[in-house]
Amino acid sequence: MKTSEVPRMSCPKCGKEVDRASSPFGDYEVAPGCVSVCIYCGAVNLFDADLRLRKPTAMEMAGLKTQAEAWRQTCRIRNFISMQN
Ligand SMILES: [Zn+2]
Repeated sequence: MKTSEVPRMSCPKCGKEVDRASSPFGDYEVAPGCVSVCIYCGAVNLFDADLRLRKPTAMEMAGLKTQAEAWRQTCRIRNFISMQN
């Protein structure tokens, strides 16, 4: 797992502040277009070109769901977060 510092920002859904991102399934650096799951509310967001979180469009969300293994990992993270809250 790798944790990266990102610009301080708020989750587009719950508004909680975040300033770090972790890749639980590998040592990945955060990059534009990466998927983020909010540790507070489980919302799926995307990193933009400035590494700021934004809500994915409906088309982007549909595209994410077609990437079976990546979406399965996203759902595992969301389920884990929902059990903690
Ligand atoms: Zn959130």
